[in-house]
Amino acid sequence: MVKVEHKEEITERDIKAFYDFCKESINSEVAAYLEACVRCGLCAEACHFYMGENVSGKIDPTLTPAYKADLLREIYKENYTLLGRVKKLLGFGVKIKPEDLKEQVRLAYYTCTMCDRCTKICPMGIDTPRLVAIVRGALTKVGLTPKDLAKATNKAIEKGSPLGVDIPTFLSRIEFISDEWEVDIPVDQEAEYLYIPSSIELMKYPSSVASAAKILNHSGVSWTVSTKAHEATNFGLFVQSKEVTRELLKRILDGAKELGIKTIIAPECGHAYQSMRFVASNIFPGEWNFEILNIVEFIHKMVREGRLNLSKKVIDRITLHDSCQIGRRGGVLREPREILKLIAEDFRDSVEFPEKNVCCGGGGGVVVEHEADYHRQKAFLVKAELFDKAGTKKVACYCANCVLSLEKSSKELNRDYEFLSIVDLVAEALEEEEG
Ligand code: SF4
Ligand code: SF4
Repeated sequence: MVKVEHKEEITERDIKAFYDFCKESINSEVAAYLEACVRCGLCAEACHFYMGENVSGKIDPTLTPAYKADLLREIYKENYTLLGRVKKLLGFGVKIKPEDLKEQVRLAYYTCTMCDRCTKICPMGIDTPRLVAIVRGALTKVGLTPKDLAKATNKAIEKGSPLGVDIPTFLSRIEFISDEWEVDIPVDQEAEYLYIPSSIELMKYPSSVASAAKILNHSGVSWTVSTKAHEATNFGLFVQSKEVTRELLKRILDGAKELGIKTIIAPECGHAYQSMRFVASNIFPGEWNFEILNIVEFIHKMVREGRLNLSKKVIDRITLHDSCQIGRRGGVLREPREILKLIAEDFRDSVEFPEKNVCCGGGGGVVVEHEADYHRQKAFLVKAELFDKAGTKKVACYCANCVLSLEKSSKELNRDYEFLSIVDLVAEALEEEEG
């Protein structure tokens, strides 16, 4: 069984393995990104970690996206440019010390959520998260995955979920949700739709699982949850391990195939959507033949087809926080806005261009890492400014991980924002509809 390691000691062998992994990961696409940076600095103002420091009146150039790829860029130059090769021959090559690798952990794991905002701002179109992913992968390869993240990832591999939700726990949570919210939740049935919750929802926000079930029942589609495919999250993406990503997706593939599923509904979870929608078909070409919808896309589709009627307003003034992975990267930006306009008295966007909305600060596994708390809180200051500009304390979200991160930061900084699941709001509107 694959396992992710966390260790404190860094040996010369680790440094070489890190270097070799980075070097081998540089293909023509990556080389173009590394070559193209003109050091214009525009991406600095794109990154919530850099901007968060600015809100406090500080400037930290190490938090700029371009800086996060600097060591990788040095490795590239040394191997693939004439000047770099000459420098190496003259004894001025890249020299990596153990503390440099620790700094890479800070840059790639604690101060980048792989939110992709900098890519949208960069005039050269440089995909910084792609570069950060290589550094993360190299660190994981040599056993330098942050402790909390390694622990959660190993739990997902061994027990089936990063929160330790195994099959008996899954079944007992489903039974609890079903009883508590009086909703039918079919388990292991042959069906058209497979809804896969995330363990964050199951354990911390069970109402959103109940709400999803109510919405699915209301739509009249044939659907089920699966014991084999019971966890939507995939920490393989966070630690950039192809083996882990594959192992976790295989469970979903097997569970969905067994039940004759046509469409998988990903829950309110950004990276779960990413892994199922964009990564899985590359890992299982020809086998991953499912349509993937995020639950918000599903709701939108049902409203459009006239299978869900949302005419009741259940909330007054509210703004929206976008999930970077579902919204910016997945393109699901119009749907949550159109849904909110149907069920809110006064929906106020917090950004002019939805694809440039700002990350919650806890994506990419950052919320799990205690060492990143300082940076996550700083990033929240940027969000708070946007919420305040929208003139409301109520914020709708469509990712439970975003809710977890935003709630945590808001509480730690003594703010009183309220973060609400769009799925919960829709379920409430349907109940109002029924009277
Ligand atoms: S991907 Fe997001 S968090 Fe990472 S450097 Fe770019 S803007 Fe910052
Ligand atoms: S915006 Fe693009 S080109 Fe400019 S410094 Fe950042 S990564 Fe380099």
